[in-house]
Amino acid sequence: MVKLKFMLLKEYNPYLEYKNGELFLEGVSLKELAKEYGTPLYVYSASYIRDRIRAYKEAFPNALICYAVKANFNPHIVALTKEEGAGADVVSGGELYCALKAGVEPSKIVYAGVGKTLQEITFAVEKDILMFNVESHMELDVLNEVGERLGKKVRVAIRVNPDVDPRTHPYISTGMKKSKFGIDIKQAKEEYRYARSLKNLEVVGIHCHIGSQILDVSPYIEAVEKVVGLYEELIKDGFDIKYIDLGGGLGIKYQPDQANPEPEDLAKAIMPSLRGVQAKLILEPGRSIVGNAGILLTQVQFLKDKGHKHFVIVDAGMNDLIRPAIYSAYHHIVPVVERDVKYIKTDVVGPICETGDFLALDREIPYVERGDYLAVLSAGAYGFAMSSHYNARPKACELLVEKGKVKVIRRRETYEDIFNACFS
Ligand SMILES: *Cc1c(COP(=O)(O)O)cnc(C)c1O
Repeated sequence: MVKLKFMLLKEYNPYLEYKNGELFLEGVSLKELAKEYGTPLYVYSASYIRDRIRAYKEAFPNALICYAVKANFNPHIVALTKEEGAGADVVSGGELYCALKAGVEPSKIVYAGVGKTLQEITFAVEKDILMFNVESHMELDVLNEVGERLGKKVRVAIRVNPDVDPRTHPYISTGMKKSKFGIDIKQAKEEYRYARSLKNLEVVGIHCHIGSQILDVSPYIEAVEKVVGLYEELIKDGFDIKYIDLGGGLGIKYQPDQANPEPEDLAKAIMPSLRGVQAKLILEPGRSIVGNAGILLTQVQFLKDKGHKHFVIVDAGMNDLIRPAIYSAYHHIVPVVERDVKYIKTDVVGPICETGDFLALDREIPYVERGDYLAVLSAGAYGFAMSSHYNARPKACELLVEKGKVKVIRRRETYEDIFNACFS
């Protein structure tokens, strides 16, 4: 019975498997890693990340794949995507710094974000990135001023808001009318003309990103059709649109009954609408590259039975993985070492002083004891990237495994690391 449930693991990540009742990732024993490096511990599978970039490149042979750095900004992960030929989609100066550190060519970097500061814009213009995905009228003016000051033409795309509902969590829907992102597609033409009138800007593209964790491709089709409509109007109006950037957002398997869509599925859905388009396609996948590459290992500290309610208290908290707290996100949890006994219904909670600090609520998990290790699946995207020092907790260690080899890509923080900036 118990083992049957775990057969689903391969659907999350083909490199994740039980051998003699013990969980392995790319041939590495997760129990041994937890013992050696401690918990909470993030472990990522390099082969999985490579496979996903390759799958995007196969499905979209003429596109530029810009990995969305915000999903996981460990520079070693970004370097891995670069090795596979990806560029980078960044949303801050820090992410631009990270992408450059990882060796990504500036000519493959695109930069979105509603609140780019003057300092960030200057940094990106100096580095001569491929293009800015502009989110407001005022931003066009500032980009033009910076271009003037630095004596450079600044390449821009306008991020348009196609007003489609991606049918995902409201906090990760970004392409609806009421959202702070982008410029309403109906006003876009006016803004394109304005951008053309600014002499230090070069208008090169159209950008849109409708949201994240999108499992049903139909909202993409709707968005692409609107973007192509705008593209045709702009071409007629004499614009030289070189790039159509459709953002990221492809969802991944979190729940056992969810699909893990392939880039190929997205290609089949949207390529027909792009047939007449001359511009180069750009995609910005984040979650679908790294999400199921990563797991979070945590150790059971205490069990607590309140009669009407049972708790498994672990050493990973909302400061390590905040998705359950802010999106009510589901993360599948499996034991690192199988016990062939019955399931318990429990909340899996962290040590943080917040009721929202949980990894799972009312979940049936295999019976565990103090000291057991649990693996939280699908933790590679927006996991470590959203972690914090809340409760003065040092940030977790991150490991990259590839074909039996282990590399520490971020050592565990010390108390000093947390407080260093207070005493400089
Ligand atoms: C977050 C984001 C992405 C990546 O989204 P995923 O759902 O992780 O693929 C891509 N582009 C932009 C502009 C984003 O804000």
